[in-house]
Parts: sequence; C-alpha cells; structure tokens
Amino acid sequence: MHIAVVGLGPAGALLAHRAACLGWTVDGYDPACGTGPDAGETLPRWRNTYGMFLEDLPSWAREALVFSAVVPEPQVHTAHSRRLHGRTYAIVDCGATTRRLHHPGIRLHRRKVDAPDPRELGVDVVVDCRGVVDRPGAIRQVAYGVVVPELQDAPSVFMDWRPAAVPGPQDAGPPSFLYVQPVAGGTLYEETVLVTRAATRETLEVLQRRLEQRLGGLPGGHTLRETVHFPTDRRVRGWYSGVRDGVAVFGASGGLTHPATGYSVAASAATADRMLHLLSHGALPRRERLSAAWAHRLRGFGAELLVLADAPTLRSFFDAFFGLPTHRQASYLAGQDAGRVALAMLALARHPRRVLPFLRNTPAALRRVARR
Ligand SMILES: Cc1cc2nc3c(=O)[nH]c(=O)nc-3n(C[C@H](O)[C@H](O)[C@H](O)COP(=O)(O)OP(=O)(O)OC[C@H]3O[C@@H](n4cnc5c(N)ncnc54)[C@H](O)[C@@H]3O)c2cc1C
Repeated sequence: MHIAVVGLGPAGALLAHRAACLGWTVDGYDPACGTGPDAGETLPRWRNTYGMFLEDLPSWAREALVFSAVVPEPQVHTAHSRRLHGRTYAIVDCGATTRRLHHPGIRLHRRKVDAPDPRELGVDVVVDCRGVVDRPGAIRQVAYGVVVPELQDAPSVFMDWRPAAVPGPQDAGPPSFLYVQPVAGGTLYEETVLVTRAATRETLEVLQRRLEQRLGGLPGGHTLRETVHFPTDRRVRGWYSGVRDGVAVFGASGGLTHPATGYSVAASAATADRMLHLLSHGALPRRERLSAAWAHRLRGFGAELLVLADAPTLRSFFDAFFGLPTHRQASYLAGQDAGRVALAMLALARHPRRVLPFLRNTPAALRRVARR
C-alpha cells in the first residue's frame, strides 16, 4: 500500500516506521520535521518525557525504541509501599529514538496538511495522527516537575500518594501524587494530577507549591522545569472506526490516549499492526471494533470517577488497585480488549472497604459518560 501519515509525533512516527519495515510506501507530513546533517529532512524530535511499561510493547517496538533508563519493578506508595512485580518501567531517549525510527522507506515532507485527502496527496489512504486540541471542559492531566541534576541513587517511583503537605486554605487544588524517574541530566520529580477538570493555570500553581513542600524547597541548580497539561478524553474518532473518505485516525486523534492515565505511546506501538490491517482491509472485524469501543468507554468511566474522588478516597482506591494481580492491573492500563478491562474493574470488588467510597460517585460518573 501507499499511505500518507499526517503528524509524526510518537503515534505517526511508530506507524510510519512499522509500515515502511513491512515494505509499504510511506509519505510522512509534519511541519516540525527537522533538517539532518545531509540537509535531508528528519523526523520531528519528540519534546516530552515519555515513560511506559516494557511489557505493554510488542517485540518490534522494544527494538525500535531507545530507552535512556530502564527500571525493573518501580515503587508505588499508597497506604502500603510496594514494588510493581513483573513490570519494567522505561523512559524513552527521544533523540535516539526518532533517529532510529527514520526508516529510509519513509519520504518526509516538512509541511502542514490541514485537510487530509488521499487524492490530493496521491496515496491509497491517509492516516490522521495530528493529536488533539485541548478545549475547555476536557478531562486533562496536569503536572509540574523539576529535573534535579546528578542525584545519586534516586528511586524510581511510579506513584507516591502519600500526602505532599497538610492541606491548608490555600491548597484547594485536586489531589496529586509524586512521580520520580531518572531522565537525561538528572532525576525528574513531578507532582501530578492524574485527571481533572480544574483550571490548568491555578492547578499548576498548587502543584508547584506542593512539590516545594515535598522536597523541602526546590533544590538550587535544577536545570529544567516541565509543565504537563494535555487532554486525556479528547479524540477525533475511535482508531478502530475504519477508513472514511480515504482517511483513518490513529494515536491521540484516534482515542489511544488512556482516558484515566494519559498514557498513549505504548498503546500506539501495540496497536500499529492492527491499524495496518485495518488500512489494508478498510475495516476491522465487528467483534474487535466493539471490544475496542467498549474498552475506551469503560476507561472513560474510570476517568470520571477519578475526577470526582478526593485525596483519601484515591489513596485507598490505588491501594486496592496495586494489590490486584499484575495481569489484572496491566489489562486495565493497556490493551483493546473490553472483556479484560471489565474483569480488572470487577476484580476490585474483592476490596470493598477500599473501593466503595470511590464508587460513591457512580451515578454522576455515568451521567457524564453518557453526555459525551
Ligand atoms: C509533557 C507530557 C508528558 C507526557 N508523558 C507521557 C508518558 O510518559 N507516556 C505516555 O504514554 N504519554 C505521555 N504523554 C501523553 C501522550 O502520550 C502524548 O500526548 C503523545 O504525544 C500523543 O502522541 P500523538 O503522536 O498521537 O500526538 P502528538 O504527540 O500530539 O503529535 C502530533 C503531531 O502532529 C503534528 N501536526 C499537528 N498538526 C499538523 C498538521 N496540520 N499537519 C501535519 N502535522 C501536524 C505535530 O507537529 C505533532 O508532531 C505526555 C504528554 C505530555 C504533554
């Protein structure tokens, strides 16, 4: 097939790479493409710190992505401190990865495409990977982080839900946790609101204050600040919905961002082969389509419950969640199988005392899911 991939962020670059490796002809379009040493175009360099669990990646993606840090069994802190057994968390080396994903079979074009049309681009099908636009009303993830240079033996903490500080009258922001990871140039400490509808600017101010309190003041000499805010529940349409007027959607545009966690990069890698199948057949089997649609809806319901929960409720909910067997946790976090997502959610019923307060807002959460 001859395809055009419009938007070469993580989703578009991974899909273009995979298609080119399988011998397809690929044209990639992105105004953020760079210029290489031989004046040819290069894939856009990803600008964010991307982390993921290696177990969520297919084997080809483990080879294609380059990691700057790989941490076996990262820690989580709720009411208990645990390690995530059988899970390996890795941070992407964005520069090396985008160089490696640049397959000679991808023809790059440094330009915008505002109305993807296969006839105009001279291809069989266009895949829209342009991401999503943040708009008021979206559920979004918000985080404030600093990179502290050369900290010896800093732990890798996936989630620390222990309170950052005693909440005072100034701290009316949504509940947050601490995320700590080794990154290029030091250790990233990030105070994170998993999902919220609170105003971003005010939330970032609260998060900065909480991070200062947690670290006993922001250490001198920190080299970098990272602010994170992006919508987790926005999409153009489901990636599984097929080719319409010669156009398919993938990545964040296709709803591959997990509505409750904000992760999408591993999901884009894990779904790339099914997307190529969809492109060559025009559609996915009905059963697979329905499963992916319901998986997204169930996770959306989880996101609405997270938005409505207060800090003590979230702490005890995550205590129950991280007490689930590893495979159950993994199937809520990744994959397109609605049955497995539902089983992971049902497995939480074994911890009623920790989970019932979280489910208190079910009617309101269902109303919000239905309204979307
Ligand atoms: C700071 C931050 C940290 C994050 N951390 C993680 C993480 O650790 N793990 C994780 O899984 N996810 C993370 N995410 C969330 C999510 O994975 C990202 O949003 C991810 O970048 C989505 O990938 P994408 O390729 O679908 O879209 P995008 O990354 O948004 O890429 C879209 C691309 O399309 C291009 N484009 C836009 N308009 C046009 C046009 N008209 N024509 C051509 N090209 C166009 C853009 O230049 C861009 O390169 C993070 C997000 C942020 C903001």
